[in-house]
Amino acid sequence: MALAKQLTCPNAPPEPGAAIIGVVQAGGQIAYISPSIPLTRDLVMSFQEKHIELENRLRVAGPCSAADCVQWGQGRCSLVDKVVADAALPHTLPSNGLPRCGIRQTCRWFFQNDVRACHACPEVVRKPAQLYMEKS
Ligand code: SF4
Repeated sequence: MALAKQLTCPNAPPEPGAAIIGVVQAGGQIAYISPSIPLTRDLVMSFQEKHIELENRLRVAGPCSAADCVQWGQGRCSLVDKVVADAALPHTLPSNGLPRCGIRQTCRWFFQNDVRACHACPEVVRKPAQLYMEKS
């Protein structure tokens, strides 16, 4: 489906050319950045040199790969369907409304699950780091 290729994955691999849409806070929730910031090769390399897993510090967006993604199934992103169905997640919005993520107009998750995706989205970290996320 051509449209799927035009949408943005809000939980993409941290590759140069992608966009940083949020920072993982110490408590494990995402603080969104809008407008998003380009993920440069230099930034990727600086994380690698420090042996820091970029995927547990940042949320990165990139083109939805649709059928080329392991999460794709039955014509949709199965990951966000699982996230939305996960009763263990708080599914609460900040008091000031939807997260200010900067990619809503093209977001695959929003396109598929509307604001229900945005309720759970701040809880999603691509590669959670238990030690980093432990609350002090
Ligand atoms: S699910 Fe909602 S909050 Fe998350 S990136 Fe998409 S539009 Fe933004």
